[in-house]
Amino acid sequence: MLQLLWLLLELLNNPTAPMIEITKDIERALKKYPTLQYVQGTGKPFIAGSFIAQSKVDNIDIETYEIKMTIPPNYPNAFPRVWETGGKIMPRNATRHIYTDGSLCLGNMIDEARACRNGITLTWFLDEILNVHLCREFVREETGKYPTGERSHDAEGVWESYYEILGTTDKLKIFNELELVLSHHHIERNSSCYCNSGKKYKICHSRIEPKLLDVGREKLKQIYDYLKANTQ
Ligand SMILES: [Zn+2]
Repeated sequence: MLQLLWLLLELLNNPTAPMIEITKDIERALKKYPTLQYVQGTGKPFIAGSFIAQSKVDNIDIETYEIKMTIPPNYPNAFPRVWETGGKIMPRNATRHIYTDGSLCLGNMIDEARACRNGITLTWFLDEILNVHLCREFVREETGKYPTGERSHDAEGVWESYYEILGTTDKLKIFNELELVLSHHHIERNSSCYCNSGKKYKICHSRIEPKLLDVGREKLKQIYDYLKANTQ
């Protein structure tokens, strides 16, 4: 998805937030966003209320969205899930970056994994991810177009990230690269590369590896499996 978001995440390359105490994290966020509330009903607790999307350029309130948000078990190493419940982002499908369960697509797997690798805070998520997303949705609603281009939804959006990272749109080649990197560990820098290019590792795959493995090896495998399952 979102070029802008991608850039933003690149720039921030998320802070080294240590494992945070989630309750305190939520409390801090709700202090900053008093129109959101923590709801502890009979089911799973969630956060709900009004979220005022604000332009960061001039701090002007742009639009108020009713949202519901849940904190996933792997938080803070994953984004919260967010539903826009007021009917302002319609239709609820891929054209508006909405998953089949109705939740908002707030970044593709790679962007999210990069941002969350060291953990996030809810305040950061609301400020930098949800606010940016809703501002873009507002512009989309008003003008029919997203402001700075967009990544595709679902698997194609992940592919687009790899097109940029690897400089090719050949999906077979990309699968091969992912398989190579996943099946090898760092080797002696001066030995010949495991890809059989005939080059030394230090001027071959040692350069590509960090760009693919910055999400972590386990996550890279998940992304690989996801692409395998979702690509014809
Ligand atoms: Zn190589």
